[in-house]
Amino acid sequence: MSGPSVVLLRRGADLAAVVSGLQGLGLWTTTVRSRTGVALRILEHSARVEAAKILQVDGVEDVLEVPSPHPRVDAQAGQGVAIGEPNGATVLRLGGGHPPVLMAGPCGVESKEQVREAAALVAQGGARVLRGGAFKPRTSPYAFQGVGQDGLGWLAEAAAAEGLLVVTEVLAEGDAAAVAEVADLVQVGARNMQNYALLRAVAATGAPVLLKRAPAATVEEWLLAGEHLLAAGAGGVVFCERGVRGHDPSTRHLLDLGAVALVGPVLGQPVVVDPSHAAGRRDLVPALSRAALAAGADGLLVEVHPDPASARSDGPQALDPATWRALARTLGGQVLAPEAR
Ligand code: PEP
Ligand code: MN
Repeated sequence: MSGPSVVLLRRGADLAAVVSGLQGLGLWTTTVRSRTGVALRILEHSARVEAAKILQVDGVEDVLEVPSPHPRVDAQAGQGVAIGEPNGATVLRLGGGHPPVLMAGPCGVESKEQVREAAALVAQGGARVLRGGAFKPRTSPYAFQGVGQDGLGWLAEAAAAEGLLVVTEVLAEGDAAAVAEVADLVQVGARNMQNYALLRAVAATGAPVLLKRAPAATVEEWLLAGEHLLAAGAGGVVFCERGVRGHDPSTRHLLDLGAVALVGPVLGQPVVVDPSHAAGRRDLVPALSRAALAAGADGLLVEVHPDPASARSDGPQALDPATWRALARTLGGQVLAPEAR
């Protein structure tokens, strides 16, 4: 844990009164004793409170602090991440109190036509960012692995035609520059959250990164992966919760909205939710999308396909055009308005 960790008491202070004063600030403690006195250790699940506030509690002498292991991530708290053109003109900001942003598109780029159709569809619904992987990380080596390099060009063209920005995944260090060339936000997938060599290669491009949470990663490990990116030069980190490993196969993963509320509203980091990979089935995506925004997400990353039945990956969870339009209508007032086009 970083931040205040131990509270030292004044000689003769009323222990019970200090404990209850700290509880009033949302700090839960256990008593630790030395031969010369008593101190209070702040427990992990306590609220994050600045030392200056703790020092105001009657009977508190001093506060010991553990330095944060992710100072660069902490420094981007409350700021939001700018997503825009390479010439520096910011097109939009994710987080930092800005309205939530819809990012949508197919799981994978399959053909020029498919991604053009998907771009038109998501733009009509108010999405500002087109998603789609040219390089696909697949659990089976026999499943569709993405169309590769060609897909990056198709994605860029389709997005430009609709005035959308692009988020797309990088799988290999050697592709980082090519992906960053077309992506306004480079996606590092759940499987690669702790692939530090890849994180460094992506960060070296200077692009902002959408960092998915690995299905078994703690929030702290996720923040530290973000620190790797910022320490190596990334132009900002947007955290993306996409479901963690659960025990119940009824849903593909378990959407951790507690982590969203913690990383977003509490820690002030830009955080978006991918309800599609969490659900694994399209009928749950609208409810999870609404829940994600209620938990404080700064955006949604939703899989939408013009014809999910023909999708080469993740068809069951892709929204069909009608379901996408209905969801976009419901969310309308809560997300960044579509650009006048
Ligand atoms: C994806 O976005 O299509 C993807 C592969 O997601 P994840 O890394 O969350 O599994
Ligand atoms: Mn997918």
